[in-house]
Amino acid sequence: MCYSQAISGDNMRSKLACLAIFFLATFAAAQQPAAPAAHHGHAVRPAQSPDKIWSDLMDGNKRFIAGKLKSRAVVSVRESLTKSQHPNATVLSCSDSRVPPELVFDQTLGDLFVVRAAGNIAAPLGLASMEYAFDHLGSTVLVVLGHTKCGAVTAAASGEKMPTPNLQAMVDQIGPAVEKVKGSATGDALIEAAIKENVHQSAMDVLAHSEVLRHAKEQGKLTVIEAEYQLDTGEVVRLDKAAQ
Ligand SMILES: [Zn+2]
Repeated sequence: MCYSQAISGDNMRSKLACLAIFFLATFAAAQQPAAPAAHHGHAVRPAQSPDKIWSDLMDGNKRFIAGKLKSRAVVSVRESLTKSQHPNATVLSCSDSRVPPELVFDQTLGDLFVVRAAGNIAAPLGLASMEYAFDHLGSTVLVVLGHTKCGAVTAAASGEKMPTPNLQAMVDQIGPAVEKVKGSATGDALIEAAIKENVHQSAMDVLAHSEVLRHAKEQGKLTVIEAEYQLDTGEVVRLDKAAQ
C-alpha cells in the first residue's frame, strides 16, 4: 500500500513518509537481539576469554607478517553466516588503505566488527556501531588500532587550518593528544608519540562518551585493547598497560 503510493503518487511528503517507515522497520529489525546461532541450525560459538580472542588475533597478525594467510573455504564460511553473526572482537581503526583490520589480523567473514575513521577517532556514529557490536552481537573485545605514519595525526600535529569544517572537526578531536606530547618530542618523534597518545585518547573517548561501553568495561564484560600497526613490518604492537 505504502509502496504503491510511493510509486504512483506525486506527493513527495507521502514518499518521504514511506521511506521513513521503511528505514524505521529496517532499523527495528536490526535491533532485535542476536538469536543464538543454534536457532538457525548452526553450532553456537563457545564463549572465549578476552586473552584467547587477543592471542588469536596476534596469531593472525603473525601469519600476515609472514605473508602466509590461512586458506579458508570462503563460500562455506559465507553461507554459514547468512542468518547471524557473532564477531568476537570489534576494531576501531584508521581508514588508511594500508591498515585493513581483517587482513592485518588474518581474519575472515564474521570474525571482526569493524569501525573505521581517519585517525581512529571515536565519533558519535562510530560509538553507536561499537555499542551495537557489544550489546547485540556479543563482541567482548574492543581493539583501538592506530598506525605509524598516520596522516590524520600528522595533519593535527601540523597545526594548519583544514580546508573544510569536517576535516577541521577531525583534527580538532586529535588535537588534545598532540598537545599532551608536544613538550616531550619534536619532528617525527612528536608524530610517533602523538599517534600512540591518540590511540589511548580514542580508547578513553569511547569510555567517556558511551555509558553502555563504560559500564560493560567496569563490569568486566568488555576488554579494551590499545594497539599500533607498524606500516613497515606489518606488526601489531599492543600499547595499553595490560600488555606491559
Ligand atoms: Zn591513519
